[in-house]
Amino acid sequence: MSYNELNTMSSWPVFIKCVSCDKNKREKYLLECSHCEREVCKREECCSIFPNANNKPDIVICKDCEIKIENKFRLIIDCNQLQLLKKKIKNNSTYHPKC
Ligand SMILES: [Zn+2]
Ligand SMILES: [Zn+2]
Repeated sequence: MSYNELNTMSSWPVFIKCVSCDKNKREKYLLECSHCEREVCKREECCSIFPNANNKPDIVICKDCEIKIENKFRLIIDCNQLQLLKKKIKNNSTYHPKC
């Protein structure tokens, strides 16, 4: 078999470098980061996967982006929880049953 023949073989695995661990991985072991759109491997050490609603693909965040947006992300969650808490307090304090 010639080198060209070997190169054009369709079953030849494609290796892509993971953005987090810098290792070459097979395409099927990789995911695309939803934030920077770079390839990252499926391992927990390399990315975080967040389930998405409405049958949309899961949100994948590589370690690189996770560090960058972690503070922002936390802030969003904290704000939502705070608003929920405020709502609850308000509801309880304004609830007067007619009797
Ligand atoms: Zn990796
Ligand atoms: Zn990323």
